[in-house]
Amino acid sequence: MADEHVEEFDSRDLAQMRKKIASWFRNAQRDLPWRVERNAYRVWVSEIMLQQTTVQAVVPYFERFMKQFPTVEALAESEEADVLRLWEGLGYYSRARNLRTGAIQVCEQFNGQVPKQVDQLLEIKGIGRYTAGAIASFAYNQPAPILEANTLRLFVRLLAYDGDPKSAAGQRQLWALAERFASCRNPAKVNEALMELGALVCRVSAPQCDACPLKSSCRAFLSGRQEELPVLQKRIAVTRVVDACVAIQRKNKWLVRQRTSEERWAGMWDFPRFSVESVDHDGKLTPAISRRLHEEVRQTLLRDWNVTAEIHDDLMEVRHTVTRYRIRLLALIANWQEGSPSDGEIRWVTTQQLAELPLSVTARRIADWLHERHTS
Ligand code: SF4
Repeated sequence: MADEHVEEFDSRDLAQMRKKIASWFRNAQRDLPWRVERNAYRVWVSEIMLQQTTVQAVVPYFERFMKQFPTVEALAESEEADVLRLWEGLGYYSRARNLRTGAIQVCEQFNGQVPKQVDQLLEIKGIGRYTAGAIASFAYNQPAPILEANTLRLFVRLLAYDGDPKSAAGQRQLWALAERFASCRNPAKVNEALMELGALVCRVSAPQCDACPLKSSCRAFLSGRQEELPVLQKRIAVTRVVDACVAIQRKNKWLVRQRTSEERWAGMWDFPRFSVESVDHDGKLTPAISRRLHEEVRQTLLRDWNVTAEIHDDLMEVRHTVTRYRIRLLALIANWQEGSPSDGEIRWVTTQQLAELPLSVTARRIADWLHERHTS
């Protein structure tokens, strides 16, 4: 795909489009907490939270986070476990760890001031090209381009770009258009209006073209292809797995282990968790299969965790998805008999202490289940 797509808009077209979206944005923008008392730190935190996550889900997390860590210094001085605990449920936990590391870096390297320039922002852990552009433009009104899910879809349609938008050629063209949009007197407003237009009007399915201020310039709309673009790439095949997660009890304490930096949910705490083969992803848990499951869990605990335990009949089932994995998770309770894992950071904690530790979403559900059993 040649670069002439970007050239389809000349400077006058772009100036008009900026004017139209700015006027649309004045009436349409949503009240969001990161738009209040805006500063570079608040923009940074909100943009990191918004990666792969909906605005609706982020709002309460952002408010809680700002209450506990209102400044970059407060975040730099925090404990990683406290940051992870606040992030719990938002997923993609490396974002939280990087944000804290980035805050330390800003304090040590930039005197506590989040930098203005994109190249300096890019030196900070966890800040990529898009986040750097968002901070530079929203907080400092720098003419920095942004390209994220919403603007990517919007630009693809404006250009009627029918190649792969994630390819090098696609990225080059889309970033080039983003740069041209941002080269103006008020890039903060223009960038924000573009993102909002992508989110509210140029939606993934059923874009609201009749209400769109850019419809007279939009190549996809003018050729009736708005529903076909962007061209979706083949989805990666789903893998179905069955995991067991075992709450092992010794007196009134539970065994938990901190996940290492090589594992998913690094830094979070978890009950012993592993894949099992005795249960099918979609099969029934008959008494015979449950007996086989207990035996497999007992043997795995002994072999891989150096723990002998007696498995209870209680069971809670959770179905969840992590990236391409559809997981059937079987939560079990076991009575500790002897042994202790020698690998990694291990703790025996009460149900109350579980409430203070950062856990994955499914481990938190198991912790809540244990708490309910204990109090009922
Ligand atoms: S006219 Fe339709 S497809 Fe084009 S930018 Fe607007 S909402 Fe998106």
